[in-house]
Amino acid sequence: MMHPATRLGFVSEAQGFGVFATAVIPAGTLTWVRDEWDIVIPAVVPADLLGTVERYAYTEADGTVLMPWDHGRYVNHACKPNCAGLQAGIDLAVRDIQPGEQLTNDYSVLGTFEQFPCACGSPNCRKTVEPRAVDAELLGAFEAARALMATVPQPLGERAVRWLEAERPQARKSSPGRTPRVMSGRLNLR
Ligand SMILES: [Zn+2]
Repeated sequence: MMHPATRLGFVSEAQGFGVFATAVIPAGTLTWVRDEWDIVIPAVVPADLLGTVERYAYTEADGTVLMPWDHGRYVNHACKPNCAGLQAGIDLAVRDIQPGEQLTNDYSVLGTFEQFPCACGSPNCRKTVEPRAVDAELLGAFEAARALMATVPQPLGERAVRWLEAERPQARKSSPGRTPRVMSGRLNLR
């Protein structure tokens, strides 16, 4: 589920829709939390649904392929994102996000997919988005955001704790042999 201070908005003909902040979302805020409504994509996808799945689903840090049920599926890629989800089940703001600003994730660390051209506008845009390992910069930003979690309002906090510590089902591995890039640990929200 996306943070309540976000909305779906049109970006451009090329990019389609995206998710925008409607209020300040400070670094360390949970911007998305997995819940029981999200759609777990099975290993075999019917050919007529492949396009939709490739566009809107992604691989969670624990290997689950997931399509968010709400506007979370419209979060776009950026080479220098303001959100990151390096722990299964959550995304965090890795810097302060201003009202009207688009929420973004770095798709290159979200599983395997066909490469595609990027025009995200970041000064460090890699021009091509393709699967790669998490780099030190993104990992450092995510860890710094985790350290701020207890210091900022968390509208999704209760849901995150419930999902991660109580209701989370056994993770289904999309590729059993792959090394998960999951970070573990309880959420320090209080
Ligand atoms: Zn880019």
